[in-house]
Order: sequence, then structure tokens, then C-alpha cells
Amino acid sequence: MAGDSSLREYERKRDFSRTPEPSADGQRNRKRKSRGAGRPRFVIQEHDASTLHYDFRLEIGGTLKSWVIPKGPSTDPRVKRLALPTEDHPLEYAEFEGVIPEDEYGGGTVIIWDQGEFRNIKDGSGDHPKISLEKQLEDGQIEVWLHGEKLQGGYALIRTDGGTKERWLLIKMKDDGADARRNPVSTQPRSVVSGRTIAEVAKQESDATRGEKRAPSS
Ligand code: MN
Repeated sequence: MAGDSSLREYERKRDFSRTPEPSADGQRNRKRKSRGAGRPRFVIQEHDASTLHYDFRLEIGGTLKSWVIPKGPSTDPRVKRLALPTEDHPLEYAEFEGVIPEDEYGGGTVIIWDQGEFRNIKDGSGDHPKISLEKQLEDGQIEVWLHGEKLQGGYALIRTDGGTKERWLLIKMKDDGADARRNPVSTQPRSVVSGRTIAEVAKQESDATRGEKRAPSS
């Protein structure tokens, strides 16, 4: 079970007096109350940090389990995309879009590239065995059905053997959402929330900051 302790690394890496990212307080407070019902959510954030990448986050066990996908997701089932696990993020992070200061951890611009609900494919329906998402995470074999705006259908996350650092692969499953001709990472670059590109968010935030500094102290 992902308790609050799973967010210690997230908190240790960040100075919340400097970054606009959400702290873990909201998740901590909510956990004391009853957990929200409804389907779990996923988000894919495009993040222009020292290198541009995509952060894939799945709500599992009351927190956002996270992977860095250097090349972003594919809709082609023949393509395997490297997915490197990173620290759990609080659920509030799914709403985050903005600019992290350059000298802070993960400094750079973030947009919500895709988001939506998802379901566990291994939910005991049809021929599927019933295996919880927590168990699939532990086993290194996760199968989810995404109801995103850009991405739909089944995706498998598979942990690979070997090496000292854990590596996973993100693979589109064969279904109606699969399409080898699509390349949403390049053809659909805008935020599904604000309609802005990474460059537009970066420019608007820097203009706003300059405006604040120029503002007369009346
Ligand atoms: Mn990132």
C-alpha cells in the first residue's frame, strides 16, 4: 500500500517555497477522510527539463506512480518505448501545468499532454484474471485501458530484466486505439487542458514574471 511515506522522496527533492508544484499535504489530508470513489486517473505531462521527456503517471494505491518516457508514448503496437520509474507524485500533481524554476529539481516547463480515466484490464472480466494494480506493479506487468483525449485503449508496462537500474517498456496493445500511422507526440503537441504548447506556457510565464517585476510599487 502506498502510504504517505511513498511521497517522502517527492518532498525531499523540492522546496515548496520556490516551486509552484503541489506539496503532498493535500493527499495526506484527503487520506484521513474517505477515499474518493470512481475510476482511477492517469496523466501524461510533457516536461521540458534538461532534456525534453514525458512523465506517465497512473493512480495506484492512492498516489501517482510515475515513469519517465524519454520519447513519449506511441500508438504503434510494434514500438516499445523505454519507461524509467521515478518517485511517486501526489494526486494533485495531475493538475499541474506551469514552469518550475531553473535551479529547482526538474526545472523547466510542464504541460498536461494527455489525461483521463483508466481501468485495470486484469479486472476478472471475460478471460482476464483478476489481479490488483498494486500486485501488477509489484510483478512488473501492468495492463491498463486508457480513456484519454489523445490515447485510447490498452497499454502494457513491462519491467525488463538485467541492469542495476529498473527499466520498463511502454507498449501499445493491439485494439481499436492502435494506429501505426499516428504520431501524437509530434502531431498533437498541445495541452489538453489549456490548449497551449510547452513554448507558449514558458513564454506566458516569463512575460508574467517580467510584468510583476516591472509593476510600480504603488
Ligand atoms: Mn519530468
